[in-house]
Amino acid sequence: MRYFNKVTFGMEFRAVRSIKAGEELFTYYTDPVIHTSSRQEDLKPYGFQCGCESCRTPSDSDFVRMQLYRNTPMLVDYKRLVVFLMTPGLPESYVVDHSLQQLELIERTGLEGSEFYSSHLKFLVEAYCAVENLQKALIYLRKLEDFKRAESGGEEKSVKTLMQMVKEHPRWGWKTKIQGAMEVAGFYAHCSSVL
Ligand SMILES: [Zn+2]
Repeated sequence: MRYFNKVTFGMEFRAVRSIKAGEELFTYYTDPVIHTSSRQEDLKPYGFQCGCESCRTPSDSDFVRMQLYRNTPMLVDYKRLVVFLMTPGLPESYVVDHSLQQLELIERTGLEGSEFYSSHLKFLVEAYCAVENLQKALIYLRKLEDFKRAESGGEEKSVKTLMQMVKEHPRWGWKTKIQGAMEVAGFYAHCSSVL
């Protein structure tokens, strides 16, 4: 990802994933998540044809992008989170698996520089915080923080700071809190029906 640093007046390039030695790096002249034909249209003024894998295989890459648009956390995962919080006994996989699959698809397609990536990372941090899975919440918070730095600069946060962010996250322990509140509500509902 690239970011214009106003202080140094220079363009900064940062990686949000590991790069192999000798691997070719690409940058974008248009929005990488739009349809291939729209990207080609945007590239016309630059006078070159893009030879990246997505542009070489338009039917596959357009299909992936359509899938990603239809499977955003806003459309799918937050609804699953609500069901998960309200239903006792559902496993953690119920709430995280869909988002993890989308994340894998994003990584396979090389779209880690897109909002799809950051929105799934943000969701996974919330979901793992809700079930108090510190280790997993830290993994995805670290990736999300890397994304934010790649987008707008800033210093890398220490593990201690990230841990504190997780523990102070508004979603931390949410599942337990909501289940507890539901038990209390159920108890009073039972009392009033008895009375
Ligand atoms: Zn391309």
